[in-house]
Amino acid sequence: MGTIFEKGSSTKNNKWEKDIKNIGINKNYIRESSIGLPNVSEVEVLRHYKELSDKNFCVETGMYPLGSCTMKYNPKVNELMASLEGFANLHPLQSDEDSQGALELMYKLQEALKVLTGMSAISLQPAAGAHGEFSGMLVIKKYFEKLGQKRTKVIVPDSAHGTNPASASMAGFEIVQVKSNERGQVDIEDLKTLLNDDIAAIMMTNPNTVGIFEEQVLEISELMHKNGSLLYYDGANLNAVMGYSNPAIMGFDVCHINLHKTFSTPHGGGGPGAGPIGVVEKLKPFLPTPIIEYNNGKYYRNYNMPDSIGKVRSFYGNFGIFVRAYTYILMMGKDLKHATEDAVLNANYLKEKLKDVYDLAYDEKCMHEFVISGEKQKEQGSSTLHIAKRLMDYEIHPPTVYFPLIVHEAIMIEPTESETKERLDKFVNVMVKIAEEIKQNPEIVNSAPHNAPIKKVDETLAARQPNLRYKI
Ligand SMILES: *Cc1c(COP(=O)(O)O)cnc(C)c1O
Repeated sequence: MGTIFEKGSSTKNNKWEKDIKNIGINKNYIRESSIGLPNVSEVEVLRHYKELSDKNFCVETGMYPLGSCTMKYNPKVNELMASLEGFANLHPLQSDEDSQGALELMYKLQEALKVLTGMSAISLQPAAGAHGEFSGMLVIKKYFEKLGQKRTKVIVPDSAHGTNPASASMAGFEIVQVKSNERGQVDIEDLKTLLNDDIAAIMMTNPNTVGIFEEQVLEISELMHKNGSLLYYDGANLNAVMGYSNPAIMGFDVCHINLHKTFSTPHGGGGPGAGPIGVVEKLKPFLPTPIIEYNNGKYYRNYNMPDSIGKVRSFYGNFGIFVRAYTYILMMGKDLKHATEDAVLNANYLKEKLKDVYDLAYDEKCMHEFVISGEKQKEQGSSTLHIAKRLMDYEIHPPTVYFPLIVHEAIMIEPTESETKERLDKFVNVMVKIAEEIKQNPEIVNSAPHNAPIKKVDETLAARQPNLRYKI
């Protein structure tokens, strides 16, 4: 509208005033001068965006071993399916009758996730893992309210992802921390001292955030249930157990699933996502409404859930993401198990190759990820942060660093099943080379990255006064 009704845009004086009068726009809302859009050719616009995208790093560029985030390859067929006209152009307010195909897909995705988690019911609504945690915590809260029990606290291990205590706290619970033992697992003796009638639940992920399987999970679930409490499973690490174990077998009552981790949907720069939650039978009435059900040959949205915590997302969640995850599940079929196997094998391969050069946080068999420490390299004049930056010079995305908090100078590596042995070997060679560089001349590592589009930044300044202006 601005270009048509801009002041002075017309060749004839006053024409614009007549134009807006005719159309009934208040003069005060009319722009006084041009909005300054660049006047460039199509090819220049394309070049601009291509150049920007070349500066980006993605899993199509190289290895992206970001621990805890499962940056696996997102198959292109997912995008093809999500862009099918019938899915992409469907309006969320269309009737159940007109949306049978979409509802069927959602229903079948729920069913698939039921099989993979062992849970009795699924809600696809939450928009991310953390949102799933929050929704799951609200379900737990409502359950105890309905029972007439006043349980106000949630136990969270000291190794937990930050979203766990944050979600429980946002849902109104007080956080109680349980310690990890020297093997990186929940200290069961410490846990016992924390149990009482105030405890609503424990939040755990298994394998946990140091990549180690919690061997005492069954004992923990028995202890919690005896205490009248529930167990929440943070499903961010499902890629390590999918097809082999599941949260229900381990004794959990509620879980979330990060579709952008285990089920190959885009992580997408804060864009639309999905973190479905699953619950055991007794918690089903509290799920966000509507859930998708099937009866008499018809799929429908069930709003008749009087005890539901309500809606947690507009409409039914991010439908395009469900299409992608469902495509992946159908495409993989029984091979989902092989994805798990390869993810665990790849991580163990890297761990064994690196453990003589870097300190291992826990010398145990790992699952789909593991944690090393840059402590030794710190003594030699460098640090984990510098190692991470130096990796960028070799076209490898830095792993997760300084998390989990319980490991000093932590470097958390998750290769995923997508990587070939050649890529893994390249990663090992580069990591060994960087350790060598630190021994010879740490300055070369400490001033990295040298080849990345953005060189070393002052991290504090970059966080507080970000300058996002792109300069050619
Ligand atoms: C990624 C992750 C989360 C949070 O999931 P989002 O989808 O990023 O909100 C929670 N816990 C663990 C262990 C994670 O790795």
